[in-house]
Amino acid sequence: MNDSVSIGWIGTGVMGHAMCGHLIAAGHRVHVFNRTRTKAESLLAQGARWCDSPQAAAAGSRVLFCMVGYPRDVEQVILGPEGALSGAASGTVIVDMTTSRPDLAVTVYARAKAKGVTALDAPVSGGDIGARDASLAIMVGGDKDAFERVLPLFKLMGKNIAHMGEPGAGQHTKMCNQVLIAGTMIGVVESLLYAQRTGMDLDAVIDVIGQGAAGSWAINNLGRRIARGDFTPGFYIRHFVKDMGIALDEARRMQLSLPGLALVHQFYLAAMAQGEQDLGTQGLYRILARMNRIAPNVSKM
Ligand code: NAP
Repeated sequence: MNDSVSIGWIGTGVMGHAMCGHLIAAGHRVHVFNRTRTKAESLLAQGARWCDSPQAAAAGSRVLFCMVGYPRDVEQVILGPEGALSGAASGTVIVDMTTSRPDLAVTVYARAKAKGVTALDAPVSGGDIGARDASLAIMVGGDKDAFERVLPLFKLMGKNIAHMGEPGAGQHTKMCNQVLIAGTMIGVVESLLYAQRTGMDLDAVIDVIGQGAAGSWAINNLGRRIARGDFTPGFYIRHFVKDMGIALDEARRMQLSLPGLALVHQFYLAAMAQGEQDLGTQGLYRILARMNRIAPNVSKM
């Protein structure tokens, strides 16, 4: 797939907009659909063509990408009456990059195969920064030959790209990622609350501990945002709650106890209950700061 490929793209939010932009910049012919058209306008200005439905975006596309919010959105835009599968010609590859349920990935794969189409589940990690810099980790489930066909396009969006196995394996890998992120986020937030209570400068603390054994993407990127009082997404709290819910459901199904994940899920549910669902995940800092009556000494508390 080195030549210009006809591509469909559904979902032009925080992640999808940047990822789709890389495909356009590489010279591919991209047909775009999003629920809110205005969020696709700048991609249209770059040369993408607007479609009125997922079905229309899939028609004539060799590869159809989807980067929407929730599993219910995936069901609608791929399997729904005007969904991509109803417009996809035989031989098309449908690639769902949304973080979604592993069992839904298996269903999409089976429904696609019945039409002579194939499907990959290909969730990503690396956040809004990774999407902008085309440095995402991309974890893929589905047929290896379909993965190989799409790999040149994945390389335009990411750096660490791996085929993880059968349909659903990409989503299972993403759940491993989210379990780890959950533990990391509570660590980042509690570490910086401790720093703030002692009166230390948060950036000075991150300068040191971010480079040692406690270093992580979260402390060095989201910790910095906390330090400057920036709680904008990034990665929405409401999406993280969705992901932890999927991981806990899967764990229950496998009779796997994950008490740390369950606890962090509860803290983020409290954030939702306080109306903070549209903050970035670093917004958990605000919830625990309130619990501790920590004075807001950062700019946007
Ligand atoms: P977002 O900004 O909400 O983008 C989702 C986009 O999909 C929106 O533009 C939305 O349309 C569109 N959409 C949703 N349902 C649709 C439907 N039924 N039909 C058509 N368009 C629909 O979310 P995001 O941050 O890009 O995240 C997308 C996915 O990636 C989520 O599953 C998230 O968990 C995952 N993810 C996010 C990050 C991150 O750091 N942000 C990192 C890794 C993975 P509207 O414009 O109308 O809302």
